[in-house]
Amino acid sequence: MGEAKSLRDTLGRPLRDLRISVTDRCNFRCVYCMPKEIFGRGYQFLPKADLLSYEELERLVRIFVGLGADKIRLTGGEPLTRREIETLIAKLAAIDDLDLTLTTNGSLLEEKAQALKDAGLRRITVSLDSLDDAVFRRMNDVDFPVERVIRAMDRAHDVGLRPVKVNMVVKRGANEDSILPMAAFFRERDYVLRFIEYMDVGHTNGWRMDDVVPAREIVRRVSEAFPIEPVAPNYTGEVAERWRYTDGKGEIGIIASVTQAFCKDCTRARLSAEGMLYTCLFATEGTDLRTLLRADATDDAIAAKVADVWNARTDRYSELRSGETVRLQKIEMSYIGG
Ligand code: SAM
Ligand code: SF4
Ligand code: SF4
Repeated sequence: MGEAKSLRDTLGRPLRDLRISVTDRCNFRCVYCMPKEIFGRGYQFLPKADLLSYEELERLVRIFVGLGADKIRLTGGEPLTRREIETLIAKLAAIDDLDLTLTTNGSLLEEKAQALKDAGLRRITVSLDSLDDAVFRRMNDVDFPVERVIRAMDRAHDVGLRPVKVNMVVKRGANEDSILPMAAFFRERDYVLRFIEYMDVGHTNGWRMDDVVPAREIVRRVSEAFPIEPVAPNYTGEVAERWRYTDGKGEIGIIASVTQAFCKDCTRARLSAEGMLYTCLFATEGTDLRTLLRADATDDAIAAKVADVWNARTDRYSELRSGETVRLQKIEMSYIGG
């Protein structure tokens, strides 16, 4: 599939990253992602038979790699709630030249870290929104304690999943007072803290622009306590804007998807747990790959379908965000994968 590597969408963007939601289920109910009022007892999650099997996922990943993808992120929902996720990791880790990583809420990581490492995972991202136990419990809304997430991060680091990156979604009035304590704490460790602007993903979290703490305010707050300076991106399309502490104590990242859209370099495709392909986090429609897989389509036929979708891609939601787009019936983040 040599020539397919030149795949470009209508804005000239290549396909480099694939984010795979391995399950739409989660054991947390973060207020900005799976609010309890919607994701309560009666919520219908995907039935097991609808989920792509690990064999199907491996096959798709190999097809995407043939089209130029070289970064895979496993996400969800909570990926560590899917049974024997290390079996999938082992299959994907065997694919050459692939940067494979996983984003988790950390709740099951302490016991899983070694198995993930043994299966071939190299690094990991752990989400944590506050060091203040009461604030964190309120945000995950299932009363999960901070201490266990910290222990899980340390365990991941100890078994060699490095670097450990930490994702903190900042929501006005909810955890903005945790910005500085988080910066202070992770400066002293070898972990890279990344602040994420609260986004209007899905249509159930009641997002309002007033709830967003803009990146420039986060930078200002951190720099008042610890001077920082910008660092050049590692590569084109890196989502986090990098800043380094001038005293040499590591760096932070800021993912400013709302106030500083980075669509022009967006090389990310997303696959839902049931095999729908989306070309934007804010998509309203996807392309069903599972039916192709289960109808015995050849790899070439599936690759041709993906190439068609990518070639026709026009997405630049964050650049166009407006009062109108915020009200669209977008796909939930727990389904499409963060
Ligand atoms: N359950 C795993 C976790 O929380 O790390 C993986 C899936 S989660 C959807 C992936 C990332 O998306 C997390 O870091 C989470 O904090 C972030 N996220 C979820 N909803 C968001 C929102 N409305 N705005 C910004 N980030 C969000
Ligand atoms: Fe679950 Fe992650 Fe969403 Fe929180 S952000 S509800 S941990 S999927
Ligand atoms: Fe990519 Fe869509 Fe986000 Fe823009 S809004 S950066 S196109 S995922």
